[in-house]
Amino acid sequence: MVSRAFLLYLSRQHGLKGVFSQFPGFKQVTHRFIAGENIDDAIKAIQELNKLGITATFDHLGESTSSRQEAESDVREYLYVLDRIQATGVNSNVSVKLTQLGLDIDEDFCMLNTRKIVENAKRHGNFVRIDMEDSPKTDATLKIFRTLFQEFGNVGIVLQSYLYRTEKDIDDVISLGARIRLCKGAYQEPESVAFPQKSEVDANFIRLMQKLLKSGIYHGIATHDDKMIAATREFAARENISKDSFEFQMLYGIRRDLQLKLARDGFKVRTYVPYGEFWYPYFMRRLAERPANVWFVLKNLLKG
Ligand SMILES: Cc1cc2nc3c(=O)[nH]c(=O)nc-3n(C[C@H](O)[C@H](O)[C@H](O)COP(=O)(O)OP(=O)(O)OC[C@H]3O[C@@H](n4cnc5c(N)ncnc54)[C@H](O)[C@@H]3O)c2cc1C
Repeated sequence: MVSRAFLLYLSRQHGLKGVFSQFPGFKQVTHRFIAGENIDDAIKAIQELNKLGITATFDHLGESTSSRQEAESDVREYLYVLDRIQATGVNSNVSVKLTQLGLDIDEDFCMLNTRKIVENAKRHGNFVRIDMEDSPKTDATLKIFRTLFQEFGNVGIVLQSYLYRTEKDIDDVISLGARIRLCKGAYQEPESVAFPQKSEVDANFIRLMQKLLKSGIYHGIATHDDKMIAATREFAARENISKDSFEFQMLYGIRRDLQLKLARDGFKVRTYVPYGEFWYPYFMRRLAERPANVWFVLKNLLKG
């Protein structure tokens, strides 16, 4: 069986995108997890979700940018996305990755870029979620988030239950009054910073979810895991926490049945909708989360 660690290793080998793309069926396969290559594809996908009572967050795929021009082009894309949200009336906010906006190049440059997006979102009455990447980026990501939250307010952060440090980070962010998306974490991390056992990551997720729900702030519980969702529902019911005081979040194309069921049960549900040409690392992380997906990919490639 292909291991999670090997798939995460492949996700960092960006040159392999070209190799995979040569298979005729490959593009079709990526469409299971990615709304399309341009903004209109993403808007169409979000309109469909909105009809089902599900809100969204746009993700213009990109990360680990090493060129200032590329980072600036991503800023322009996000400003355009915010304008299009306003113009089309879709119910969506945006998610950004700081390495897409120049974090690996220069922290101040990244701050200025992210600031432009948050400021524009503020003008539109919208909200920006800063995704969390691998642990060497956690401190810098939190620093930029904190500065922008204090200046504008309409920005939230992602924290990952696989990191030992997250409980303390959650306390700090809650004391600011800011919104958190809690997820398990998608990167390959060493035992020195992250729980090595899935059971520990899951137990921490439940503990942290309870902290978030009790905080009185509107947070996002991001998981496709039936057990995490059941634990959230049970805790909310037991503590009399209303269904509209938090939201479940899931990724485009994953557990669509569950997304719909939760929305029908009266919960708030938001789907993360990625689009763009830089799909390779995102797609490979989705395979790593469920190595059984590799068989789905291979089957389609052989068909193609
Ligand atoms: C809205 C959203 C935003 C996210 N943002 C970030 C972020 O900023 N930083 C970060 O590190 N991670 C992020 N993640 C990813 C997250 O950290 C996990 O890697 C991912 O959600 C898988 O964990 P899980 O909670 O679904 O549980 P798991 O234990 O991985 O999976 C539970 C079950 O969910 C289903 N499932 C999970 N993943 C898949 C898949 N890829 N394909 C098919 N079925 C699947 C399967 O049925 C599986 O048995 C985000 C996730 C979501 C939902």
